[in-house]
Amino acid sequence: MKGPRTFRAPGRVNLIGEHTDYNLGFVLPIALHLSTYVETSPSPDGLLRISSEFRNITLSWAPEETATLEPRKQWTDYVAGVARELALLGVPLEALELKIRSDVPEGSGLSSSAALEVSSALAFLQGREFDRLELARLCQRAETGFVGLPSGIMDQYVSLFGQPRAAIRIDCRSLEHITVTLPDDVQIIAINSMVKHELGASAYRIRVQECAIASEAMGVASLRDATLAMILKTPMPGEVRKRARHVVTENLRVESFVEAAAAGDLARMGQLFVESHRSMQQDYAITADEVDFLVDEAITKEGCYGARMTGGGFGGCTVNLVAPAAVDAFEQAMRDAYKQRFNIDPNIFRCIPGPGAAEITK
Ligand code: ADP
Ligand code: MG
Repeated sequence: MKGPRTFRAPGRVNLIGEHTDYNLGFVLPIALHLSTYVETSPSPDGLLRISSEFRNITLSWAPEETATLEPRKQWTDYVAGVARELALLGVPLEALELKIRSDVPEGSGLSSSAALEVSSALAFLQGREFDRLELARLCQRAETGFVGLPSGIMDQYVSLFGQPRAAIRIDCRSLEHITVTLPDDVQIIAINSMVKHELGASAYRIRVQECAIASEAMGVASLRDATLAMILKTPMPGEVRKRARHVVTENLRVESFVEAAAAGDLARMGQLFVESHRSMQQDYAITADEVDFLVDEAITKEGCYGARMTGGGFGGCTVNLVAPAAVDAFEQAMRDAYKQRFNIDPNIFRCIPGPGAAEITK
């Protein structure tokens, strides 16, 4: 009998390129050390069984019935959705017990959902060969089709392809990526605002629709093909125009950020962060008072090159570029300021770009 095996998949922070993924543009995430872990062992009763630390709800089913699983509107959908997609491709699933634990904070924009999907996928595969890009797409299908949240491919992609000490710039149209080595003399800090406004899920859908309206007005397949000149000359509702402007300028900012990173130009990298935040705040209208405050406050602090909200929006985390020597004072000042303004203790994470998902071998 084989012993237990453990499969790990990381959460992520997107450095820049927000709401560009479903518009087939560019994103620049890093995979994190914060990860989800799935321990697998043979099931005693021939059923597949999934459980997660700190959750009462579990799920079990006969492996041969995997393709007929239905969503239940609970956390298990992320895992069952992945199992179902694998089964639909004819991958045989073993009767396993999956025990899940995670240190990725949930619902804060660090993508605990993709970490859960990808770690589960590797757990179901048990080391079987599977193309990584296909696996990213499969996990994305589980989230869009089974869980029912429209989402781009970025989270699952970076969870599988992440690299130590580097960000990856994903072209969401070709689904190719390049590795972007980051300057050594900067610390990436995520600050969790601890709020997630309910508006989020519905606004996400509305933004997806607004982008489709803008693309149609300009006669392009996606906003990836739009330019600022086209936006200016095409008649469209004012709100829609602003959404399109965010996406087009954000794609340009990703490219500029990659160049600035290669040149080690931290001031420029920070400036692009702030421009990205203003674009999300004013044009895409997806920020919130709490994250706006965190950004406005951060950029007044010694050693902070720039700050922006990261993730889907309406709360969640900000990401900050900070000089290593200033990190301790920066964190303390941000804790104090946020506590004083909102009476909330933020969680703060020092982000170290880490490798993509894999089995943990001792
Ligand atoms: P994010 O991906 O930004 O963390 P989402 O709303 O996309 O936020 O995903 C969070 C959801 O994923 C949780 O509500 C839960 O259903 C599921 N989830 C994530 N991590 C775990 C876990 N360790 N155990 C059980 N469910 C989890
Ligand atoms: Mg998610």
